Amino acid sequence: MEISQNFDGGNISVIECERPSNIQLEIRKDQNSNFYQWFYFRLCGAKARNCRLSIVNANSAAYPEGFRNYRILYSYDRKEWLRHDTKLEGSTLRIEITPTRDSIYFAYFIPYSMERHYDLIAGALNYLHCSSELLGKTLDGQDLDLLSFSMGDKTTKQNCWIIARQHPGETMAEWFMEGFIEKLLDMDDLLTKKILSNCNMYLIPNMNPDGSRRGHLRTNAAGRNLNREWETPSIQFSPEVFFVKEKMNKTGVNFMLDVHGDETLPYCFIAGTEGLKNWNARKQSELDFFKNRLAEVNPDFQTENGYPAKQPGQANMAMSTTQIASMHDCLAMTLEMPFKDTTATPDKKYGWSAQRSKTLSHSCLQVMEEFISKKISGIDV
Ligand code: ZN
Repeated sequence: MEISQNFDGGNISVIECERPSNIQLEIRKDQNSNFYQWFYFRLCGAKARNCRLSIVNANSAAYPEGFRNYRILYSYDRKEWLRHDTKLEGSTLRIEITPTRDSIYFAYFIPYSMERHYDLIAGALNYLHCSSELLGKTLDGQDLDLLSFSMGDKTTKQNCWIIARQHPGETMAEWFMEGFIEKLLDMDDLLTKKILSNCNMYLIPNMNPDGSRRGHLRTNAAGRNLNREWETPSIQFSPEVFFVKEKMNKTGVNFMLDVHGDETLPYCFIAGTEGLKNWNARKQSELDFFKNRLAEVNPDFQTENGYPAKQPGQANMAMSTTQIASMHDCLAMTLEMPFKDTTATPDKKYGWSAQRSKTLSHSCLQVMEEFISKKISGIDV
């Protein structure tokens, strides 16, 4: 038997792997950080053997509650990822499984590799209304890509920014972006036509390539949590945020969505920027419009559960949405999807999945289009 993790996004260290009944593993910490929770590894040579895997440091992870009632993802072909029960016993996450093939992969959520990321960018550039810009290099020397979609005169349009995967372990955020991009490439689609007649779309499908490749949960190569770097990003520690913020200042921002996953809460929800000093009734009604319409359009999304709203003046200005909402006076929101599943619309076989992330992205595009259309017609939402 052998455990491997030396591949794109891999993360695990082996304590003991002599007998199938006692495979002991530990999740590695993000570089220069105490965060850990993301894991992704392969088990070979255990076909038809009753395996008992123990991730012994699960209960000290960044979000231990995330491992309660958690169902792990496994795959034989790295295309279909299925759920399997786990048990949190003391400090250990226990997985009991009998693999039916020679090789089986396990992951915290469905991986989204950097190779797939580069395929996504390159494939989109087959279309004339899509262009890309290399905003800069990361600390590990990887490319930080911006994808733009626009038609006709750019200067008269609303500038909509969607960014994803500041936290690299939240891979559902890039599956969301893949769905978003597929829709925006379809010029026969009525929604896409409407959007591109009113908007320039700016997309960062992966804000954190280094953390993604290194198999991090939350930080970049310097151990920085990028969603705490937006007030004073630096080339030295957070070039990813530095470059994106700079580009946003050039284009202007009329709408922004920052896409994430939440380890603990079994819901899709949106967090607003109610903590801003100048929060007011207009901003509240814009946020309410978006959330309520999204809940109407997509049954996986709901508005009852989420993070408690902050009081005006209590905002953490180092986060992307508060910083951008404040600088550009626009609607900026954080979208959260679950690692586990949604309580109201569960799926026993797949749980929250790549496909459901993509479907939610299409719903977000629909509601964004409605929001922008009303805004430019001067209709209050
Ligand atoms: Zn996040």
